[in-house]
Amino acid sequence: MTYVDHFGPHRALGVKAIHKIRWRKPTDRGATIRERASTCSCRATVYSLLTAGGLMFIRRFVDEDGEVEVRDSPWVRPVEAEEVWESLLKGHAV
Ligand SMILES: [Zn+2]
Repeated sequence: MTYVDHFGPHRALGVKAIHKIRWRKPTDRGATIRERASTCSCRATVYSLLTAGGLMFIRRFVDEDGEVEVRDSPWVRPVEAEEVWESLLKGHAV
């Protein structure tokens, strides 16, 4: 039997998403990026809430058979990013 340690929240499943995040390929803006929060890595898709240069964004990691695709949400003001993050965790944003 395999035991998995669960760290961080899990995104709610089975909820109809009402907000579509405009995921884009990450661009190097030269800003120092720090992680504020991250969803549990037991899922194939992991989301991190990141802060950089006074703005915040969400980074999505999708593991497809070992190939990890990385995408970033738009960089926005922290208050706006935290709203999107909450919405994402509740399953309202995708
Ligand atoms: Zn987990």
